[in-house]
Amino acid sequence: MKERACKECNRLTKLDLCVVCKAPTSPNWIGYVSIIDPERSEVSKRLNISAKGKYALRVR
Ligand SMILES: [Zn+2]
Repeated sequence: MKERACKECNRLTKLDLCVVCKAPTSPNWIGYVSIIDPERSEVSKRLNISAKGKYALRVR
């Protein structure tokens, strides 16, 4: 089953609602990034990610 991405925080999940911010998720997303150390990651700064996990780069 394809994962879905949160429209607010880009976090990847298999659920219809994001577990973190409770926003609806979308099956239409592009790119994929795994954030291990959000404090040091340039990508996480750009996407405003503060928790580690898997994220989509772009969500439609
Ligand atoms: Zn979210």
